[in-house]
Amino acid sequence: MLEGEYGLSLLYSIDFIEFTKSLIMILDGLLECPAPSQNMVTLISEICFLLKVFFAYQFNLYDIIDKTHNIPNILLKGILFAKGTAIEDAIQQLAYFICANISSNDKEKLPLAQILRAFLDSRIIFNKFAKMSLYESIKLLLELYKKLRNEEYIDSIAKFTEIMDYFTSCSTLETSNSAEPKAPLLGLLELASDLISVTSFNKEPDAVRLTKFINQIFFGGLFPDSKGKFICKAIDTRYMAYNLIIRIGQYYSTCIIGLIRDCMLPLPKKVSGLNVWGYIPSNHERSSLGYTGLKNLGCICYINSMLQQFFLIAPFRNAIVSVRDNKEPNYAENGVDDNLIHQFQRTFVYLMHSKRRDYNPAAFCYSFKEFDGKPTNTAIQHDAHEFLNILFERLEQEFKNTIYTRLVQSVFGGKLSSQVICTNCGHVSSTYEDYYTLSLEIKNQRTLDDSLDRFIAGSTICDYLCDNCKERIDATRRTLISTLPNVLIVHLQRFSYNFNTFMIEKIHTRLEFPNVLDMTNYTEEGHACLFNKREDPKVEQKNSKIVKGPENEKEREERNAKGKFDTQESKKELKEKEYYTYKLVGVLTHNGNAEAGHYYSYININRRSTNTNMNTENDHWLEFNDSIISEFAFSKLGVECFGGSMEDMGTGYMDENSEVAKLIGGRSKSAYMLFYERQKKDKIPLRIERPLLNSKETISSSLECDSTAVSRTGNNITGNTQEENFCYYDYYNIPCITSPELLSVIFC
Ligand SMILES: [Zn+2]
Repeated sequence: MLEGEYGLSLLYSIDFIEFTKSLIMILDGLLECPAPSQNMVTLISEICFLLKVFFAYQFNLYDIIDKTHNIPNILLKGILFAKGTAIEDAIQQLAYFICANISSNDKEKLPLAQILRAFLDSRIIFNKFAKMSLYESIKLLLELYKKLRNEEYIDSIAKFTEIMDYFTSCSTLETSNSAEPKAPLLGLLELASDLISVTSFNKEPDAVRLTKFINQIFFGGLFPDSKGKFICKAIDTRYMAYNLIIRIGQYYSTCIIGLIRDCMLPLPKKVSGLNVWGYIPSNHERSSLGYTGLKNLGCICYINSMLQQFFLIAPFRNAIVSVRDNKEPNYAENGVDDNLIHQFQRTFVYLMHSKRRDYNPAAFCYSFKEFDGKPTNTAIQHDAHEFLNILFERLEQEFKNTIYTRLVQSVFGGKLSSQVICTNCGHVSSTYEDYYTLSLEIKNQRTLDDSLDRFIAGSTICDYLCDNCKERIDATRRTLISTLPNVLIVHLQRFSYNFNTFMIEKIHTRLEFPNVLDMTNYTEEGHACLFNKREDPKVEQKNSKIVKGPENEKEREERNAKGKFDTQESKKELKEKEYYTYKLVGVLTHNGNAEAGHYYSYININRRSTNTNMNTENDHWLEFNDSIISEFAFSKLGVECFGGSMEDMGTGYMDENSEVAKLIGGRSKSAYMLFYERQKKDKIPLRIERPLLNSKETISSSLECDSTAVSRTGNNITGNTQEENFCYYDYYNIPCITSPELLSVIFC
């Protein structure tokens, strides 16, 4: 269109200066929009494109416009406050285009110098909200600066020094070696690295100064300074700090002597206790999978594997770490706070925050008393189910005077209904009892459903005096589930007493269990439904009534007085499907026989309990084996947990009785306890203290994660963990010194 005479005259008739000014003003306005629409984003990109064309078309345009509109500031604003990468990219490209293509005779007015200065001098680069895109832009411009530079336009030494000053004064921003790096720290280190390549330190006189900088990055940055403080904790940040040291070394090789003399040589002196052979520092670190293990002090794998299962049940963990029993520490002679709740908290807080590979649960074991009231003997192996029962009993006791009065019941507890059914009149007499685990027979059962069927199967009792018809007659006794828990723990009875040998034996037979468990048929209401469907007239259809245990004496009297029978026996309405549906989230496995064996846990760490996704096999499963945490491929569940002979396991090539089979224990490992989490969870009731109510503070908790729990953790425990982490770094965080890049610079 612009070709030919007509086009040219059109071109000449446009007032580019006014037009560009308008575009800049529109751009400036658009960039302030907190939530730009897609149209606005497109408009911004197009304005940036037009500006590039105009600036290229008329070289002095930039100079003229810049007199009235501060272009560097507008660009800075665009990168800092732009919502979305599309805008950032457009602005970044515009800035780069201007810097790369527009020159000026006046070096003070060179766009590159102006824009670079504006970016570098903005205090935002030290702000914790600074974006990585800002550092990226500066990096690009510095590259350009390096190429074009034949004179100094920016004071890079001053900037470098300023960054170093900030570095030493900044408080610890990062909290964990696996945490996300914080933008300003990572960005500033990167910036300092880039500045080194455009900075003209005088090699000789400034070596001392640079050596001092290296020292600052080393101690206080990478390793603890005299106060035990160090700044770089995220892996990326540490990498960048090393990179900066390497950069300084590359440009100013004289500094390397200082690095070795002042930093590297004193470092081993800070390290004590390194007198073991085969020491590999990374073996002492928290697993890269993000979890801390538990040290086995002899035979306590039954405690360790159970504690990890509990730790991964978020509401239970959160309740434990946030609960206050308002008791002073009860120090025993050995200095241990002999209080189960306190030790439970301590253990969980360490599992959350410790940087070590494992936590030593000695104090927990001390505060957990065995049947005889003595501290746990860590040299004796116990049954995991037995441990669980005692633990729940103790916790129930300990939680009585806290806000989580019914924590154990709320998370793990359900009710069983023991029924006796008169074969004459069909009268059902029910008593209810609490349960925290379902203990199932597995002998001669192939699947978990078989075991559950067996659990609810009736047995005949003879000569029963019926409350209702007053006849002495045979009756059926059976157990059904009255209420289901949020987390269902299933105990598989793999250990049984052999009355011939008077020995406890382990049942090694195969028992399959599902990823998704439907409990409907084992509940009172579900079972009744099933029977009604089958139209079994024997028991369920007769005139029957429900009589509850002694706690409902009053109700029964009322009904008797009315002379009216409740014909709706067990016809509680069926609840929605999610109430009965459970997803497998943990398997506690036993490997060995009745005399000797080892417990460890497989746990779904990404159970996504908030949505309806029940595909546990697609979640992330890990093996928690005392100190060691490793990946677990869920596809191996059958081989690792169902038990049974080698043939059952589908290998088929090995004789199960062969020495090899015995050696690898293929047959001896099988699931011992199963952890199922319900699709639809009930809230955990809290006992709210009056003062709390008055202050209008509300605490709500459910089976979903409660994010406030950690902040409510006792400060002293968190403090202890931090302190220990510092010591840990001091003594163990040596692996970084062997960073190959660093060594290659020093020794090349
Ligand atoms: Zn009867």
